[in-house]
Amino acid sequence: MFEKVLIANRGEIALRIHRACREMGIHTVAVHSTADADAMHVRLADESVCIGPPPSAKSYLNMPAILSAATITGADAIHPGIGFLSENATFAQMVEEHGFVFVGPTPEHISMMGDKVVAKEAARSLGIPVVPGSEGAVRDTDEGQRVAEEIGYPVLIKAAAGGGGRGMKVARSREEFVAQMQAARAEAKAAFGNDEVYLEKYLRRPRHIEIQLLADGQGGAIHLGERDCSVQRRHQKVIEEAPSPALNAAERQRIGDIAIAATRELGYRSAGTLEFLYEDGEFYFIEMNTRLQVEHPVSEMITGIDLVREQLRIANGQPLELTQDEVVFEGHAIECRINAEHPETFAPSPGRITDYHAPGGLGVRVDSHLYSGYTVPPHYDSLVAKLIVQGRNRNECLMRLRRALEEMVVDGIATNLPLHRRLVEDPDFINGAYDIHWLEGWLAAHAKVGA
Ligand code: ADP
Repeated sequence: MFEKVLIANRGEIALRIHRACREMGIHTVAVHSTADADAMHVRLADESVCIGPPPSAKSYLNMPAILSAATITGADAIHPGIGFLSENATFAQMVEEHGFVFVGPTPEHISMMGDKVVAKEAARSLGIPVVPGSEGAVRDTDEGQRVAEEIGYPVLIKAAAGGGGRGMKVARSREEFVAQMQAARAEAKAAFGNDEVYLEKYLRRPRHIEIQLLADGQGGAIHLGERDCSVQRRHQKVIEEAPSPALNAAERQRIGDIAIAATRELGYRSAGTLEFLYEDGEFYFIEMNTRLQVEHPVSEMITGIDLVREQLRIANGQPLELTQDEVVFEGHAIECRINAEHPETFAPSPGRITDYHAPGGLGVRVDSHLYSGYTVPPHYDSLVAKLIVQGRNRNECLMRLRRALEEMVVDGIATNLPLHRRLVEDPDFINGAYDIHWLEGWLAAHAKVGA
């Protein structure tokens, strides 16, 4: 096994990776910007290297600085975490070229899945069901309108290089199409430097259901079941749970089998996620994430499998220890993403934490880099904690979640804890009766009542 792993990330995920390394007897190297000198991941790591000023372009995205840090500390491998360079094929390539192991898939698989047009084509050829849409990118608004008529309005215009819901626009009619396509292109150009777009049938009431995969690139592939991530605001996940309240055992089996077969045929290695929209009993592939995901703990909680440990073992060339039959699913888990943001306006809320208390007790896990006296810097993602709760069934899980949310204290900054406390009391949420538009509708309705 590796002796020393450099963690090319920050925040709760850097801590999460550090913890897995520690349990495996691996030394850790933290990297940080000047804004993060006092961060928990820096405090806990065995060594740390400052890699640049606060803006991520100059620090956490600074490939030469990260590679130099790995060289001077004598690290064997680099774990990219989530976001930042985790889905950057050039970085994965450079890591390997400099003689380090990249804890993740091959650069080829990262770049294949990073281009959504190519990814969708690959998915189709691997026998994965996809959303009806354009065959590849659409060149101009004329071609776009032609394809939109064929698939039928409403259509979704999506950026080939998309991520985080950006560069995505709905066109509900022919009249709207040109303006929406131009808007999607402009947004994609600004966010990704690439204005290529493609079209998909816009599904009206789907759920977001994704399958967690682990593969060793040597023929071993398993799935850890599905996660339901339909509670979203602006295409960003807010609450995730496993298993999905919407699937039955036969559907779970069917999509799991398809996912494993595809992963094996692809020759994929490491952790990965196939994301689907699910409507009326059908699954439609939307993308594959070639990295760990923020919501991975809910799968860990119901299977007892440490995904980061498995990533490290696979990166070290070891085959999977488990076959699918040996994966045991137990109970139910729900994760709330706690963000440093105003619970109603969603304005970011960086600042000093004056008081912090993490809930505990049976079945409660908090992944967070917060501590009393810590200052949340304004430069990065607003995620400051993940509250993950497990119960023997969904009902027990909900009761425990309610209790844990009550107990949790993050003072000094605004967070969305009050929003979570209200959502878990909502009858639709309690009944699992939500789709990807549910939260937006809930917010609109409750803003009106509150005003
Ligand atoms: P990104 O990479 O930007 O997150 P995705 O393709 O994963 O983009 O889509 C993000 C979210 O957008 C999905 O979870 C879903 O809420 C919505 N979405 C994507 N494709 C469709 C579609 N064809 N119809 C309806 N909603 C969609």
